[in-house]
Amino acid sequence: MSGHSARALAASVASGAVSAAEVVEEYLGRIDEREHEVHAFNLVTADAARAAAEQIDRRVAAGETIGPLAGVPIALKDNLCTRGVATTCSSKILEGWIPPYDATVVERLAAAGAIMVGKTNLDEFAMGSSTENSAFGPTRNPLDLDRVPGGSSGGSAAAVAAGFAPLSLGSDTGGSIRQPAALCGVVGMKPSYGTVSRYGLIAFASSLDQIGPFSRDVADSALLFETIAGHDGRDSTSIPAPLEPITPRLDRGVDGLRVGVVSELAGGTLEGFQPEVLAQTRRAAEALAAAGAVVADVSVPSTIYGLSAYYVIAPAEASSNLARYDGVRYGHREPGRANTAAMMTASRTRGFGAEVKRRIMLGTYGLSAGYHDAFYGKAQRVRTLIIRDFERAYRDFDVLLSPTSPCVAFPFGAKADPLTMYLNDVATIPSNLAGHPAISVPFGTGEDGMPVGVQVMAPMLGEPVMYQVAAELERASTDGTGA
Ligand code: GLN
Repeated sequence: MSGHSARALAASVASGAVSAAEVVEEYLGRIDEREHEVHAFNLVTADAARAAAEQIDRRVAAGETIGPLAGVPIALKDNLCTRGVATTCSSKILEGWIPPYDATVVERLAAAGAIMVGKTNLDEFAMGSSTENSAFGPTRNPLDLDRVPGGSSGGSAAAVAAGFAPLSLGSDTGGSIRQPAALCGVVGMKPSYGTVSRYGLIAFASSLDQIGPFSRDVADSALLFETIAGHDGRDSTSIPAPLEPITPRLDRGVDGLRVGVVSELAGGTLEGFQPEVLAQTRRAAEALAAAGAVVADVSVPSTIYGLSAYYVIAPAEASSNLARYDGVRYGHREPGRANTAAMMTASRTRGFGAEVKRRIMLGTYGLSAGYHDAFYGKAQRVRTLIIRDFERAYRDFDVLLSPTSPCVAFPFGAKADPLTMYLNDVATIPSNLAGHPAISVPFGTGEDGMPVGVQVMAPMLGEPVMYQVAAELERASTDGTGA
């Protein structure tokens, strides 16, 4: 049962062929077996999952129609607010904080019949690419326990890769869904900005953050995206328009679609990409051509400045968003200080880890009066250039292709200095800056037999065509062409 797709599980539960209780027990059993070595979770909510399963089974027995995820276990990144269930962002500063409300995505999942099995580990406040920045210890890659799962949604990626749940949710500000998906050999998607409500997602960089799905296959990814997407009045950036359905597109193939391989990210300009990763990306492009797509290289010149712009804009927004953790309103407070300022300083000094402090300082500096135009203003102009370059490329192409990550999963400690770690995000960041959707699909293996992820990018609200291409890549990779 644990190898089954979410679609198959939901169909079996809805028809009564299998009970939600049995499904949940099976996945909790898997968690029992391997969680001690993987550490995908900050919290496993076994009792609540069992109770939710019983309720679903009662409803099935009463002849009710449950939703499209009836009885399907799901793991949630621990920066998504869950009512009555601790939400930590893997930070000491939020230890002991219990949200009084559910994120919109959490409400929608419950309405669809999904069952939360736990809250997954992340880099503290989603800042990082390896999950080594968690205050509660790193998550290990289930495919090789000596390697990182990627980050920041490393726990969510590992949970799906280890079979702890068929589905999970992560958040992606600069690649935090797609990169760990690539490193763990699963599918991960960052939606168009504004398609999934951010209400109840603890903010990192609000103009870049999006919640998105992890799954073992492309069709489950589309199903989970369709379940959580759609307008929400509680997020002012939520797009007030219905989404085009995706699932009917998945079997359409790619005949006649125009696919551009971004030359800067596919070996043309930027260094540091592993040769096997570039080779698999080329193979993916060839597979699409063999399936009838028109494939050509395309230059998107300003993508190479995305990383620099991101590491000004994201810390700037983070420095503002994280000002609320002051020892007064949330979580950890250092006692016994002489006055409020000393209490706040002490609480933040003890509560935040090194990377979070680094981002707050970078961001505060970039926004300070004398440097605002030189750093933040300039980074915003680069962001506009990237959007324009993408617009130009999408006049000639329906989707763009690149590697998701420059490298396969790396050993713990291998990227100890912050800049080396930041370079991981070079191929994923441009889509966040533009607000565009992008998906990582496993496509063969690279160094040491570790999985490689290929990224399909699409213009704003281009999820349907993006998924169409992703489904073709999946077919090519599973029929052996990509291996
Ligand atoms: N690795 C990037 C960072 O550290 C992206 C993080 C994310 O997408 N949340 O900021």
